[in-house]
Amino acid sequence: MIEKKTPGMGTLALHAGHVPDSETGSRAVPIYQTTSYMFRDSEHAAKLFAIEELGNIYTRLMNPTTDVLEKRVAALESGVAGLAHSSGQAAITNAILNIAGAGDNIVSAAQLYGGTYTLFKYTFKKLGIEVRFADAEDPSSFEPLIDDKTKAIYGDTVGNPKLNIFPFEEVAALCEKYKVPMIIDNTAASPAVCRPLELGAHIVVNSLTKYLGGHGTSIGGIVVDGGNFDWGCGRFPEFTNPDPSYHGMVFWDAFQAFPPAGGANIAYIMKMRLQWLRDTGNCPSPFNSFLQIQGIETLHLRMERHCSNAQKVAEFLKGHPDVSWVNYPGLPDSPHHAAAGKYFEKGMCGGLLGFGLKGGKAAGAKFIDSLKVFSHVANIGDAKSLAIHPATTTHQQLTEEQQISTGVTPDFVRLSVGIEDIEDLLADLDQALKA
Ligand SMILES: *Cc1c(COP(=O)(O)O)cnc(C)c1O
Repeated sequence: MIEKKTPGMGTLALHAGHVPDSETGSRAVPIYQTTSYMFRDSEHAAKLFAIEELGNIYTRLMNPTTDVLEKRVAALESGVAGLAHSSGQAAITNAILNIAGAGDNIVSAAQLYGGTYTLFKYTFKKLGIEVRFADAEDPSSFEPLIDDKTKAIYGDTVGNPKLNIFPFEEVAALCEKYKVPMIIDNTAASPAVCRPLELGAHIVVNSLTKYLGGHGTSIGGIVVDGGNFDWGCGRFPEFTNPDPSYHGMVFWDAFQAFPPAGGANIAYIMKMRLQWLRDTGNCPSPFNSFLQIQGIETLHLRMERHCSNAQKVAEFLKGHPDVSWVNYPGLPDSPHHAAAGKYFEKGMCGGLLGFGLKGGKAAGAKFIDSLKVFSHVANIGDAKSLAIHPATTTHQQLTEEQQISTGVTPDFVRLSVGIEDIEDLLADLDQALKA
């Protein structure tokens, strides 16, 4: 007999969070395209509203299709509960607003996804939340920024655009020392490649739009609670003071162990659902949740192929006469190679890579226009291969000096390597380089 206690990635990707319903036996997860749910009787309704019993009331707060998605991603990330949102940006916004308000600060790695960077630098500032930027490539830069008002340390697993890998070990030690939670955006790696909650993080966010959904069909985001942070530590009075919008409920008392006998610490995610999802309303559509569940069923297979294709593309480009540099953590001379070996699963290094064209900016644009299999889009994580020239697109509003300081040199091309046949990808790159 083979004994195995915890199911593997593939089994979780196909089964976690779903039991076929007893009424219809539907094997696939049904799309519960409904806004609201019948209460059994008045007493049942009263109990649901009082959170004496958990159940469906209204799809802004909970939906059975989305519930499977949340449980599945929570299982893949080794967390205890998830909360899906209408987009990755919505998930990141609520993940922070759930614990920080005016007068508070967040210490964040500067090497962020562009949308997160503008949210942190400009929009949170308007709300009175200060984001202090550290350098993820210099872990000692985080500690001097932490003070009594710091509510989280934040970073992306894979930094943008240099593909640097977050210094989990060093930052985990700081989180422990100062009793501050670590929030990680795991989108660019996906839980098949990296599991931040096993590396000291407390909260993980993912844009479902990318590798998890995997097919470029629907926008979505999710926050996963690791259930491993003490929100009663004194730094977070909103968890330990009564919530006047919930008849004086104290989230830490109610949900530090749920159900009370041996249950998980879901205080963070419950607070986010009951306050922030209720009030901001950025919930997903059940249909998008269904599509994302479909995508997740093959996450483990797709990521292996994304990674092995990206490795071969990196090696091909490295040996090409028209290419001046290649940045991929899977190359032994990459400054991020050791971190990938330490923090990523089974030698996988992700599907993203960057390289420089000898001809600079003009050659970059010409190269992109000559691609036939790779699509020119502003996205990553699609099963299809994607390419973009950041200097003329995503980063064109910056001056050349600003571009270079963020790592976007004029010759830089970014690839999100898909799962097509590798021979076709290499032939496409080769003909476009020749052009
Ligand atoms: C795309 C992306 C986001 C934002 O997700 P949306 O679903 O587009 O809102 C956040 N972080 C990273 C790393 C991303 O790639």
